[in-house]
Amino acid sequence: MNVKNAEHIATAVSPEGYPNGNLPEIAMVGRSNVGKSSLINFLTKSKSLAKVGNTPGKTRVINFFNVENKLILVDLPGYGYAKVSESERKRWEKIVETYLNNRSQLCGIIMLVDIRHLPTELDEIMYRWIITMGKPHIIVATKADKVSRSHHQRLINEIRRTLDLAPGVPVIPVSATRKMGYSEVWSEIKKICMI
Ligand code: GDP
Repeated sequence: MNVKNAEHIATAVSPEGYPNGNLPEIAMVGRSNVGKSSLINFLTKSKSLAKVGNTPGKTRVINFFNVENKLILVDLPGYGYAKVSESERKRWEKIVETYLNNRSQLCGIIMLVDIRHLPTELDEIMYRWIITMGKPHIIVATKADKVSRSHHQRLINEIRRTLDLAPGVPVIPVSATRKMGYSEVWSEIKKICMI
């Protein structure tokens, strides 16, 4: 997809705030600071559609981005920020769970993990949740520029093993900084959303 038009259309904490219409949605989940905002900007060829490098864990909202009037990228709040209190964690869970369990036009999920680190226990819990939902999903391994290309396959294999991924689930190395992985991710999104 050669994106020319993308815009932020809604910020929500509950279904009343979700945008109307029937465009397919693809949701992005991952730890705070994993590179989710950077990925959204990269996929939409924008500099600041999603805000990069905010205090991690503080954005407890869902942001919706319309892309070419064909689909909506849904930025779910990140998890795993150390200084989050129990009540904040519960709030996160309610926002994310309500969206994932009830949104009928949700066609699939992109889970982000940092290519440099093994998925954490929270990533594993998140991934099991995704499996239980039964929606198509892909894994994006972010910040791929931070490790040499010759290590990518080994690191991807470790991610596969830690999350116990089924063979058909793609793991795509991406670098927003070096603009790597754009067409591979879009190609998977198109398949998932059937656009
Ligand atoms: P978010 O909290 O998941 O939305 O993460 P951000 O997109 O705000 O990124 C967190 C930090 O990682 C920022 O300092 C980004 O500049 C950096 N970052 C994100 N993507 C990349 C990437 O592909 N390569 C490198 N080197 N840094 C990245």
